[in-house]
Amino acid sequence: MMKNYQCKKCKTHLTNNTTPAVFNCPGGGHHQWTDLGEVGPTNYQCKKCATLVKSKSTPAAFNCPAGNHHQWTKL
Ligand SMILES: [Zn+2]
Ligand SMILES: [Zn+2]
Repeated sequence: MMKNYQCKKCKTHLTNNTTPAVFNCPGGGHHQWTDLGEVGPTNYQCKKCATLVKSKSTPAAFNCPAGNHHQWTKL
């Protein structure tokens, strides 16, 4: 199952079927990946960090790089 992952520290977003490698975060040290949920047909964008993801349902709110929780808007 493909999932959306985002690093809280460097904002990098990618899709993968397992948790991505943690090495070499541009934000310093290790990436801190957050599992945002299953990839799907609907576009969601966070009002705070501007991250755009294609998701099956509303992505997880945890660990917005802009602070606290993402605020997802369905596009
Ligand atoms: Zn990172
Ligand atoms: Zn966000």
